[in-house]
Amino acid sequence: MMKTPSICSPLFALLVIFSCSWAVSSDGYDDFIQCMSLQSNNDSSISNVVYTPNNTSYSSILNFSIQNLRFTSETTPKPLLIVTPVQESQIQPIIYCAKENGMQIRVRSGGHDYEGLSYASEVPFVILDLFNLREISVDADNKTAWVQSGSTIGELYYRISETSQTLGFPAGVCPTVGVGGHFSGGGYGALLRKYGLAADNIIDARLVDVNGRILDRKSMREDLFWAIRGGGGASFGVILAWKIQLVDVPEQVTVFTINKTLDQNATNIVHRWQYIAHKFNEDLFIGVYIRRVNSKLFFEEEAEEAEMILSPYGGRMEEISDSAIPFPHRAGNLYKIQHLVYWEQEEIEASDKYINWIRKLYSYMAPYVSRFPRAAYINYRDLDIGVNNKGNTSYAQANIWGIKYFKNNFNRLVHVKTKVDPANFFQNEQSIPSLYSWWNKNGK
Ligand SMILES: Cc1cc2nc3c(=O)[nH]c(=O)nc-3n(C[C@H](O)[C@H](O)[C@H](O)COP(=O)(O)OP(=O)(O)OC[C@H]3O[C@@H](n4cnc5c(N)ncnc54)[C@H](O)[C@@H]3O)c2cc1C
Repeated sequence: MMKTPSICSPLFALLVIFSCSWAVSSDGYDDFIQCMSLQSNNDSSISNVVYTPNNTSYSSILNFSIQNLRFTSETTPKPLLIVTPVQESQIQPIIYCAKENGMQIRVRSGGHDYEGLSYASEVPFVILDLFNLREISVDADNKTAWVQSGSTIGELYYRISETSQTLGFPAGVCPTVGVGGHFSGGGYGALLRKYGLAADNIIDARLVDVNGRILDRKSMREDLFWAIRGGGGASFGVILAWKIQLVDVPEQVTVFTINKTLDQNATNIVHRWQYIAHKFNEDLFIGVYIRRVNSKLFFEEEAEEAEMILSPYGGRMEEISDSAIPFPHRAGNLYKIQHLVYWEQEEIEASDKYINWIRKLYSYMAPYVSRFPRAAYINYRDLDIGVNNKGNTSYAQANIWGIKYFKNNFNRLVHVKTKVDPANFFQNEQSIPSLYSWWNKNGK
């Protein structure tokens, strides 16, 4: 029987994006561990939260939250170490020692990044996994909650519902998504048209900056607080926790899902519907799932378990200014589209075949979607739209992908980054560039 794909299940994909595996030498991490223990005043508890490749739990800790299974392959480059702090105070030494030893940090909360940026990299790196930091405290009287970054959105919804039957929070649909990455990239779900994004409803945050300081909204100042609500947290620091504004759950929420195949006239429905969807009552959430797109290109075998998910905007999304937070896709946007393909074969050839097919679908859609730029959503991470130069993140190179995610907000993100992390310590394939760091390296 054919498996029905679901966006909430791990993605069965096994593309090898990086062709070399990282050779781990014990020297790579011995200095780091020594540094950690010195920084932590020889606190023996540090050894309980550090996993080296020699540790028997290393692989299970690495793989347990990876959602895109193509990145569990042996050829995916692995971290030198995984550190899983149990207290916020253990994060400052990790940042310090990574800097001292020339290692990058990849911060992981829920592990749902589509391109695996929170747990894979070609450069020597340490995973800072926040899964032990998942405290949630709900203040129903004031309609607020503090949620630590290692929590999942499912846990958050559960804790809110334990305290109140009438309060909720407008974040994503799949319960396993982590609040660390999800909120920092925007985060949308069934309440999008009523209340906007998760990031629109954040009122405070706690973050460890590049100097190891723990800052809140007041001490980090408004620019940085603006940047981490939609600009992707990974460029700016380690977000420890968010304070969120809870919302009243509408008395009636209508979730209307059109789940069609081509034979059922799916494309015709979508073409008609796309122009009126944003005018519907904002309590209505509509999703359209299309299987087998209507073009002889797309009757290929690779399309058997593919889908496009269309999520309409409108309602509250029309009212929020496109510069209120870094997420710029507001009034004038009809809906966002997610293109998905699932497969189970592990061979690289199979992965290549499916990836090529979805690239063709993406190109095929070009005439029907936004242009100049063709916009993208950072939480649907896509390295095909551009990546930074290795080790020398230039503005011009980053602008290629940055403008697609952030439009005019990209420049402000660069400004904030240059101010708060001038040496560009927090970096990855799609991190916001620091102008200072680039000028410095290029003798400007
Ligand atoms: C099954 C599935 C369902 C999804 N459903 C939705 C949905 O309904 N709505 C939606 O909007 N999106 C959805 N997404 C996309 C999801 O929002 C993004 O992948 C999001 O970034 C995941 O956050 P995470 O913490 O789980 O991921 P991670 O992989 O842990 O992190 C993602 C990025 O954020 C950075 N990061 C994580 N935590 C922190 C932190 N504490 N401080 C600084 N940087 C941090 C990471 O380094 C990485 O760059 C879904 C993805 C999947 C795989």
